Amino acid sequence: MPRPDLIIRGQRVVLPETVAPRSVHIGEERIVFVGDYDDVVAGCEIVEAGDAVVMPGLVDTHVHINAPGRTEWEGFRNATLAAAAGGVTTVVDMPLNSIPATTTLAAFETKLATARDECFVDVGFWGGVVPGNTAELAPMFAAGVVGFKCFLVPSGVDEFEHVTEEDLREAMPELTRLGALLIVHAELPGSITSGAEGTDYRSFLQSRPRAAENEAVELMIRLSREFDTRVHIVHLSSAEAIPLLREAQAAGVKITAETCPHYLHFAAEEVPAGATEFKCCPPIRERDNREELWEGLRDGTIGLIVSDHSPCPGEMKLRETGDFMKAWGGIASLQLRLPVVWTEARRRGFSLLDLTRWLCVNPARQVGFETRKGSIAVGCDADLVIWNPDAQFPVNPSTLHHRHKLTPYAGEVLSGVVQQTFLRGRKIIDAPMGHMLLR
Ligand SMILES: [Zn+2]
Repeated sequence: MPRPDLIIRGQRVVLPETVAPRSVHIGEERIVFVGDYDDVVAGCEIVEAGDAVVMPGLVDTHVHINAPGRTEWEGFRNATLAAAAGGVTTVVDMPLNSIPATTTLAAFETKLATARDECFVDVGFWGGVVPGNTAELAPMFAAGVVGFKCFLVPSGVDEFEHVTEEDLREAMPELTRLGALLIVHAELPGSITSGAEGTDYRSFLQSRPRAAENEAVELMIRLSREFDTRVHIVHLSSAEAIPLLREAQAAGVKITAETCPHYLHFAAEEVPAGATEFKCCPPIRERDNREELWEGLRDGTIGLIVSDHSPCPGEMKLRETGDFMKAWGGIASLQLRLPVVWTEARRRGFSLLDLTRWLCVNPARQVGFETRKGSIAVGCDADLVIWNPDAQFPVNPSTLHHRHKLTPYAGEVLSGVVQQTFLRGRKIIDAPMGHMLLR
């Protein structure tokens, strides 16, 4: 056994099967041994976590960093600093809203050049499926994107066009051939209405009904079955789609799903008039829907919870007029995912193991990083977060590293305070030492 450079130990270390007193031995950036709490090596530096939780660094596979081209919306420095502050050690960047969008090999190379030397945590990348770019998928996949995203409705930006079933029929055989995962913004345009302008949240909610999601999930189940393509539904909000997914999964269709902290924490009934910081697509739905999403997590139909961190300059939220229909849709929550989810999970009787499965293990598995990320196990990167699950704090927007501070979480009292985050065995301080994670 190699001599460790550092040992992190505590009374509540979250291992794949149990939470127990353990010492985690780190050598050359990886976990080299997990021993009993007292199992230490004389002379080796020790970080004592005490009663705080030692968990795998979080993996967030749904983050819009928006650089290059819209760096003023967020950027790699801000995003990865926020990640580190929130206990996240791996993020995967979405192929939009950067300019260029990551839909060609050349655009991916531009993206990598932009991100390199700017990241405080490790970063992977999604490519995009847009009409007509099938020939770009294999080169992008060979260059290291973890999979591909598409939209079934307009994405909100012109340079990332949505696809039709016809476009998918062209792209999906190629994705199957590559063995690549297709992640899908699952709303279909048919049930979406233009909606009345104004400050009433209900009319925005009604403009994007559950049916738009349900129909999209049905389509993707059908196409996944037909083409044998691995498909993943991003940011599921409609709980009515859960039985469809459960049935398809049981029948062997290769389809998985995620949901997001805002759908699990907020309820439509509580969104104040004109509070456009709550706008996202698909929308935050009613309280009963929220509870059904939790049941979907409980039985595993929904496997992961990721942020869908989607920031924009504050003025694009049109807070002065409070017009839900015209405001940019997106909620920035990269730094707050752990405490938001823990606050709600604990209230419903879920455990630290459940939390770790949703925030670490399953996101790492989704993108094929599971042998390196998301678990405290020998051979994995020594990515760890030490946090206090019992301490509470009110969300003060000025403490967020997000470039823009407008947040629906302002003033919410959350449980779970991040104390220290380690990336490959080193405490994340003031140097951007994140790696580019290529598949
Ligand atoms: Zn998104």
